[in-house]
Order: sequence, then structure tokens, then C-alpha cells
Amino acid sequence: MQISCQHDKRNKERKIIMGVKGYIMQAQPFSVNDGEGIRTTIFMAGCPLRCKWCSNPEGFSQKPLVGWYERKCIGCGACTKVCPQGIGINMNLERDKCIGCGACVDVCPKGARSRLVTFRDADEVIAEVKKHSIFYQYSGGGVTFSGGEATAQPELLDYLTSKLYDMGYSLDIETCGYFKFESVKKSLERMDLIFMDLKHMDPDVHRQYTGVSNARTLKNIQNLNLVPADVVIRIPVIGGVNDSEENIRKSAAFVHKNLPKAKMELLPYHKFGTIKYEALGMELPSADFYRPTPEAMQKLKEIIVSEGVKIADYR
Ligand code: SF4
Ligand code: SF4
Repeated sequence: MQISCQHDKRNKERKIIMGVKGYIMQAQPFSVNDGEGIRTTIFMAGCPLRCKWCSNPEGFSQKPLVGWYERKCIGCGACTKVCPQGIGINMNLERDKCIGCGACVDVCPKGARSRLVTFRDADEVIAEVKKHSIFYQYSGGGVTFSGGEATAQPELLDYLTSKLYDMGYSLDIETCGYFKFESVKKSLERMDLIFMDLKHMDPDVHRQYTGVSNARTLKNIQNLNLVPADVVIRIPVIGGVNDSEENIRKSAAFVHKNLPKAKMELLPYHKFGTIKYEALGMELPSADFYRPTPEAMQKLKEIIVSEGVKIADYR
């Protein structure tokens, strides 16, 4: 017992000395689509889902990650000279050996190597946020947590939100909804606005395209009644997957019944993530996915309104 207490004490001391760290994709200033006003969006790595259309594949796992942009590469070989793992120019052929140290990024003359995920000190991220305070102040903006999946690092999220909340920042979060509610409840209570995804109402189709059932997300939509934040349930509308009128109607009916305060937002599929798949040497999302037409999107919005849910539009 005594040994265990000493061990706990040592761990606490170590945490104070080391501070809180975590895997960050980027802290992107001047975002205008992730909540009210001008915001810094903190993209946190790690996600329990594997959506087949994901536009941020670098955020799938929690480890330092470097990408290679072949189109920018001039083949000078500077990266190979500093690599501690002896990896060649096309790092995607030897990605399993890469430790994400970033040495190659620092010497590349063309910016053809880039840090996509870094292990960072939370206080350093907060210092970066503070640089843009004046813009948040005059635009009614703040900070939005995104990913990857921000709830996949609950300790880091708790640290960042508690510090920024105490400093008076407006906080929002974008989440896939797949998390243990109790592990992030305190963080969610600090939010002004929560964007939560609902990708499909059918659990089997949801599992087929994301790797997990929708049961936990549906439960967490109900759980959002327990926090004071405004809520927007977002549907990324992927043509050929979840864009049927039946699915959208069922989604809206579920939201209306289980979270009456929520609005809904529809985000049409896009292919902006293609370059990241290439940089990581990953297979591209299926060419069968398509972007619904503006007319189809309008029809789906009307269905949502007819189910008694208001539409939000932050894009
Ligand atoms: S990140 Fe490090 S290990 Fe990976 S290719 Fe670059 S230098 Fe080599
Ligand atoms: S240092 Fe950059 S430009 Fe030169 S070979 Fe490596 S990736 Fe290409």
C-alpha cells in the first residue's frame, strides 16, 4: 500500500514537471467555418472510426507522422542523408520504418516533407492560441477542438479546455460522437457549441463504412441533454452512402425526439483530403462516393425542417 502511494505521488510529481502533452495535427488560426467568428481550430490526432471517405487520414492514429509530397520533390536526396532509419526519398515504400522524427522535414529545400502529426506540449499550443486573441475578441470567435477526434485524448482535452475556459475563451468542439461520455463530460460542459456527427441511422451500414456501430453515438446524442452547450448534429452527406431521403428523415426524427434543442447541418462530400492520402501513400477513398447536387442537398434540408429540426449553416 505504501509502495503504491509513493508510486502515485511520484507519478503526480512527474506530471507536474513534464506538463501535459499530446498528439496534435495542427493548430490552425483564422478558421471561419468551425463556429462563430474567427477561431483557432486545434486538430487532435487519433480516431476510433475509420470513415471510408475521411478527409483527414493523418488523424487516424496517435503517433508522430511525416508526409511526402511527391509533386514538390526535386529528388535532391537531402532527406536521405539525415534519416536515422536509412529511409529513401520515397518514404512511403518504407513507411513501417519511419519514426516520425522530422529530421527530413527540417532539411528539405522544397517543403516536400511535412509534419502531419507532432507530439506537443499543451502549454505551447495554448501560447499559440493566445497570439490571435485580438481576432477572437473582435469577431466573437474563439477556439474549436477538432480532429482526428478531440475526445480520443481526454486528458489533453481536459487540460486545454480547463486552461482556455479559465482565460475566458469561447470553446467549441467537433466530434464523431464515439466516446465514453463520463471521460469527457467536464470538457463538454465548458463548450459553447458542440458539433456532433451522425453518419448513418442503420447500425450495420454505419459499421460497414466507419468500422463501428452507431449505438454509442446515438446514446451520446441523448447524453448531450446533460450539458448546457448549443448543439449542431452534422451529417457529412456522402453520395451513395447516406444521402437517401429515408436516412435523412430518420436522422432528423431521432434528433427531434432525443435532443430537441439541437439544430442540424448537412455537409456535402468533398475530396480535399486527396493530397494527404497521396502524401501518406494510402489508398484513395472509393471513386463511387460523390458530392450530392445543390438541389439534392436542398431537398434533404427541407426534409429535416419538416421533421421539426432547424437548419444550421457554418460553411
Ligand atoms: S521522419 Fe525521420 S525517420 Fe521518418 S523519413 Fe524522415 S528522417 Fe526518416
Ligand atoms: S529533401 Fe525534399 S526535395 Fe529533396 S529528395 Fe527529399 S523530399 Fe525530395
